[in-house]
Amino acid sequence: MSVIEDLLSSPAPILDNGNRRRASGGSDSRLPLKGSDFRLRPLQVTWQMTQACEWKPVSPKAVRRTRRTRREISTAEAFHLIDQVAAMHVPLLALTGGDPLCRSDLFPVIEFACRRSVRMSLTLLPTPKVDDNAITALKELGLMRIGVWLHGSTAALHDRYSKIDGSYRRTLEIIERCHEVQLPVHVNTTVARSNTQDIDPMLDVLTRLDVAAWNVFFFVPANAGERDEMLTVQETEQAFGTIYRGSGRVHFQVKTTEAPHYQRYILQQLARESKTRFLELDAVRYAPQGVNDSRGFVFVDSSGEVYPSRFLPLSAGNVTEQALSDLYCNSSLFSCLREGSRLKGRCCRCPVRGICGGSRARAYAVTGDLFAAEPTCAYEV
Ligand code: SF4
Repeated sequence: MSVIEDLLSSPAPILDNGNRRRASGGSDSRLPLKGSDFRLRPLQVTWQMTQACEWKPVSPKAVRRTRRTRREISTAEAFHLIDQVAAMHVPLLALTGGDPLCRSDLFPVIEFACRRSVRMSLTLLPTPKVDDNAITALKELGLMRIGVWLHGSTAALHDRYSKIDGSYRRTLEIIERCHEVQLPVHVNTTVARSNTQDIDPMLDVLTRLDVAAWNVFFFVPANAGERDEMLTVQETEQAFGTIYRGSGRVHFQVKTTEAPHYQRYILQQLARESKTRFLELDAVRYAPQGVNDSRGFVFVDSSGEVYPSRFLPLSAGNVTEQALSDLYCNSSLFSCLREGSRLKGRCCRCPVRGICGGSRARAYAVTGDLFAAEPTCAYEV
C-alpha cells in the first residue's frame, strides 16, 4: 500500500510524546544568517506572481475561482525584478500565488531566474494544471523546491478547510511525484484556533510524507470577522510548546512565520534545559537582531507593490516605479519598522525585542497601530 493510500485509509496514529531533545529544526525561517546584514538586503523575497486561480471545487457549495483583479507585472517587469533580486544576492526568491501556473510565463521566468543563479521555491495549488509533466519540467529547469499547502492531517480536515473535495489526495499525489523526480517539498500550514489540536498529527503525517520542511504560519486576521480564529496568548504558548517538543523527533526543518516570539520561547526552553538564567543566556546577550516584518523579509504582490509582510497591507511603493533595493533600504515604512525604540507596551520594555519584536502584521491587524505590543505573546516583562 502506498503512503497516500495508507494516509487516506487510516487515521493518523497517536505520536510518541516522549521527552526527546530538539533537533536542529524548530527555528524561525526568518532568523538572520550569521554575518548577514539584513539592512542591506533581504534574506527572502516572496513574489505573489498572480492572484488568479481556476480551482474548480467538486462541492457545489464551494467556489474557489479568483480572477485577476489588478494589472499583473509584465514578463519584462518580472525579469527586471529578478535581475534586482540577483544583484542584491538575496538567498531565496519564493514564488507564490494564487496559482502561479495561471501565468503563461511561469516557465520562462523560472528559466531566467536560474540563469541569474537565483535560488527559488515555488508554491503550487493542487489544481489539474499540476500534472507530472509540469513537475518534471520544473525540476529540469533547476527549481530548488516545491511548496504545497496542507491544513490538516487527514483528508476530512484538510478538505473542509480548503472547501475542495479531493484536494488532500491531490496534494499528496503532488508530493509523491516530487519525490519521484527528486524535487524537495516543503509543506505550509496555517495554525489557527480550529486546528491547534492537529499539530502533533501533522508532524507524524509529514514524517511519513518525507518532506524537507514544515512552515507553520500563525494566523493573522485580515478583518474583524476573522478575529475569533486568532490564537489567544495561552493557545499560542501551547502551540509553541507542541511545536518545540515535536520538532525534536522529526528529521525535517520546522519553521514559523508571523511568530517571532517563538524565538523567545525557544531561548526560554534552552535556558531551562541548561539551568541558565534566561537573560544571561549567551544566545540572548549576543544574538544578532532577529528577522521580522521589514527586517530581512519582503513581499511583492502581483501588481508589484512592496510590503514588509504578506499580512501587513501597507505598501512602501511599487517595483515598476522604484528599485526594490531603494524601497527595502530607504523607504520610510521599512525604515521605521526597523526602529525598535518605536515599539509600544510590553514589546517596548522587552529585553529580547531585538531578537523578536513581535508580529507587526498581527499588531496592526488587531489594533491598527504598527508598533503596538504583539497581541499573542505571554512574555511577562
Ligand atoms: S514582549 Fe514583544 S518583543 Fe518581547 S517576546 Fe513578546 S512579542 Fe517578542
